Amino acid sequence: MYNAKAYAAASATSRLAPYTIPRRDPTAHDVQIDILFCGICHSDLHHVRDEFASLMPTIYPIVPGHEIVGRVIKVGPAVTKFKPGDHVAVGCMVDSDGTCPSCQAGLEQFCPNMILTFNSPDKHLGGVTYGGYSESIVVDERFVLRVPANLDPAGAAPLQCAGITTYSPMRRWGVTQGKKVGVVGLGGLGHMGVKFAKAFGAHVVVFTTSPGKQEDALRLGADEAVVSRHADEMQKHIGSFDFILDTISADHDINAYINLLRLDGNLTLVGAPAKPLAVAAFGLLFGRRSLSGSLIGGIAETQEMLDFCGEHGITADVEVIKIQDINEAYERMLRSDVKYRFVIDMASLKA
Ligand SMILES: [Zn+2]
Ligand SMILES: [Zn+2]
Repeated sequence: MYNAKAYAAASATSRLAPYTIPRRDPTAHDVQIDILFCGICHSDLHHVRDEFASLMPTIYPIVPGHEIVGRVIKVGPAVTKFKPGDHVAVGCMVDSDGTCPSCQAGLEQFCPNMILTFNSPDKHLGGVTYGGYSESIVVDERFVLRVPANLDPAGAAPLQCAGITTYSPMRRWGVTQGKKVGVVGLGGLGHMGVKFAKAFGAHVVVFTTSPGKQEDALRLGADEAVVSRHADEMQKHIGSFDFILDTISADHDINAYINLLRLDGNLTLVGAPAKPLAVAAFGLLFGRRSLSGSLIGGIAETQEMLDFCGEHGITADVEVIKIQDINEAYERMLRSDVKYRFVIDMASLKA
């Protein structure tokens, strides 16, 4: 066991502050990683403030962070996929049982025994797992990903959550050349959705409540940007979409979007509004449309996504911060004052 510098919150009302955590010495199949960058996901903030208490109560102190990019510094004797010096990433999961039907299908995110990168039981050291707001992490090689060398490491960090969360449902629902795809919301998830849909060859329409974001949507590669409050603009797109990715985590009217789907069109939710959404059945009946959810992606698909990003030069648009500015970054994230993801430069932790 060794000590690592980290940032932790001591309670639901505490600010994140410097803290020292134990990390295990790498066992046979483990990879020890020096963390270079860690993205800030909205769910970090939800967990820190115990806002998922009914589903996953937070155990304090909590060290969040599941958009990790780093460099391998040590490997266990049985590790075959990685060697010291490799550029690697770790996302939302660090372990699973490897034997259940979901694991067998490469869908570790649905394994009943899946271990999240932070705030999950730590079978090695007891207590809970600690995430990426830390100088290093030790992870079983099965959950370590390879980062293509041409990708900027800071911009690649958010691919582990925001990236795979948007890539996976688009693959599942067949977003390809010639399809018409909507992306609802232009934040951390939405801006990745635009980049992927465009790279898959789709005609991409962004829906936003802020007229100020229209120009940015086009810059990111969208073909059209619609202000969702303008009913006449929405009306023009009725019955025309093959697929809509809804990234909104606030309460909103999804019926307006379901009605934009064509025959057999699908709307997938990747945001998680706290309040249940009202769904008008007729919107689904007429046109045999479907409404789905999606949760990150399996390890093999996450690697596929990273390789795709390498081939197409795709990274997140990020604002790099020092870890000392983390609490201010949380406040700005709440105001959507970031284009489009904060990423912590972990070198600042050593300062
Ligand atoms: Zn996340
Ligand atoms: Zn499993």
